[in-house]
Amino acid sequence: MNKFLISTVAMAIAMSSCTNQGTQTAEETPFVYGVDKFADIEVLRYRVPGFEDLSLKQKELIYYLNEAALVGRDILWDQNCKYNLAIRKTLEGIYQNYSGDKNSADYKGFEEYLKQVWFANGIHHHYSMDKFTPHFSKEFFAEQVKALPAEQLPLAEGQTVEQLIDELSPVIFDPTVMAKRVNQAAGVDLIKTSANNYYDGVSQKEVEAFYAKMKVPGDTTPISYGLNSKLVKKDGKIYEDVYKVGGLYSPAIEKIVYWLEKAAGVAETEGMKNYIDKLIEYYKTGDLKLFDEYSIMWVEETGSSVDFVNGFIESYGDPLGLKASWEAMVNFRNPEASHRTAVISENAQWFEDRSPVDPKYRKPEVKGISAKVITTAILAGDCYPSTPIGINLPNANWIRAAHGSKSVTLENITDAYNKAAAGNGFNEEFAYSQEEIDLMNNYLELADNLHTDLHECLGHGSGQLMPGVHDDALKEHGSTLEEARADLFALYYLADPKLIELGVVKNPDTYKAEYYKYVMNGLMTQLTRIEPGKDIEEAHMRNRHLICQWAYEQGKADNVIEYVKRDGKTYLKINDYGKLRELFGRLLGEIQRIKSEGDYAAGRDLVEKYAVKFDPELHKEVLDRYAKLNIAPYKGFVNPVYTLVTDEAGNVTDVTVDYTEGYAEQMLRYSRDYATLMK
Ligand code: ZN
Repeated sequence: MNKFLISTVAMAIAMSSCTNQGTQTAEETPFVYGVDKFADIEVLRYRVPGFEDLSLKQKELIYYLNEAALVGRDILWDQNCKYNLAIRKTLEGIYQNYSGDKNSADYKGFEEYLKQVWFANGIHHHYSMDKFTPHFSKEFFAEQVKALPAEQLPLAEGQTVEQLIDELSPVIFDPTVMAKRVNQAAGVDLIKTSANNYYDGVSQKEVEAFYAKMKVPGDTTPISYGLNSKLVKKDGKIYEDVYKVGGLYSPAIEKIVYWLEKAAGVAETEGMKNYIDKLIEYYKTGDLKLFDEYSIMWVEETGSSVDFVNGFIESYGDPLGLKASWEAMVNFRNPEASHRTAVISENAQWFEDRSPVDPKYRKPEVKGISAKVITTAILAGDCYPSTPIGINLPNANWIRAAHGSKSVTLENITDAYNKAAAGNGFNEEFAYSQEEIDLMNNYLELADNLHTDLHECLGHGSGQLMPGVHDDALKEHGSTLEEARADLFALYYLADPKLIELGVVKNPDTYKAEYYKYVMNGLMTQLTRIEPGKDIEEAHMRNRHLICQWAYEQGKADNVIEYVKRDGKTYLKINDYGKLRELFGRLLGEIQRIKSEGDYAAGRDLVEKYAVKFDPELHKEVLDRYAKLNIAPYKGFVNPVYTLVTDEAGNVTDVTVDYTEGYAEQMLRYSRDYATLMK
């Protein structure tokens, strides 16, 4: 914790140009981004600029949507692992009642573990999916649990405290029990070896057969089979336990519906009111056809400034990519910055028509990509505390093809990352020379934002599937290959003179900053997130390694990318940026072909050959160099606190925002105020 204090103080000093505290106004008070630091995590704050300028009705709308977002928290915890809620309640009980020595090794290990569990919404690392290793003893745990009043424990009916300890101890302490939340390793039953809670008692074969049977051949508007349910086998029968009012997670979903109804009452536009109503209907019935109808209405409503995501959306948590985790995010448009994405999306067809893929895989007519830069107001579910920086929805390919997609760049989040990272010495340690450092200092902020814009609003939306090819044809490699496709589209066009012509880029070297960072990250620095001896698992990391490793090997003859050794340290050097762009284009062509044809075998081969393995020597070197910099490889956020202000008659007069809440404080408040599935 000391390190954290030092870095926060240093940051506050660095950011404060005015040293006379006494005369500072509220606006001049330096905003402290760092909130907490533990294990491999740093927790930051983000600002919500422009909130004060919204209308009262917009603020009220955001407040209700925020509540609808926060109240779904327990769903994700339970989806991630069936023991998560019981473990959280037990750990929080200990944390709040502990009266022993807070400097003891056991307590320090316990506190770190709880902070990790909070951050990951469960006992598995949010990114590596590995179960956390607790640095406190089983005995300490048992002793503390026994010291708690029974009503503060998640005891099942008839369960004794000893039985609870026996039940939870192996889940927490035995590394072989529920070792991985999402297992992607080839050759084993991915369902049985994954600790997530999307399946109960079924094998991978049974899951695949169950959903294969559901598919209607020739259906051009298929629902997202299995998206919002748990697949259960009981008494020999396999059935879906659907997430809905009256079904699985009903107590949480009822509250979501309550707040959505309030939001519908102050919706900005008719279209928004209609899609909120549709979403409520879907939550009440669990009918995935209604979810598609909602998605279409949502994507077509572009008139409102306030917007949100609230539902079962992304399927990274399921090795088969069927089941979606619950997530929520509320935002409002940033009109100035949205100009950039508007220009790009208006030209979507131009990019699509020239993309370096076989013309038959291109979209003949790109449908309404609405891209905007937004200001995040709240993060929840699978977007919290670790958050994406860009979102492109809906996920159903046929809806995207027929109705387009909405793409957003979360600029206040990116901004917080950048501000918090300024001056941490990272580029100085890993970049090849001052030339690359200057490139990144000058152009990376814009290049990164453009990369996100292009990835989200053009990349994911580009291309088309051949008739009869299903969304999930690439199975466990689908996410990796889809992210690679979007990244390659972005990388390829980032270097296109068209961006200068469109006025979004001024200096023709801008793309080089992104290319350099991308290659340095893909081949070296992202390895800081991997523990020694482990493979690359996470889809986005696999995608980056795939792209860079492939480009490195394919460009070897021309020495496009080079490893250079200097003073015992390894650096990457890009010798030919133009050729690298060509390579990105070529790989995009191949991955688009794989996606369009549903060529599972070719996709698997690419992933297995280029995305998973790396040089352990280099890994060790990178970890050593990184450790010296003292930077947390993963970052996430606490939310601001919104308060509804009412007059004596109960009318809403304002919504205020406060940024002072701490990390543990926020987690405990959420557990107290938004407990729905575990009281
Ligand atoms: Zn993506």
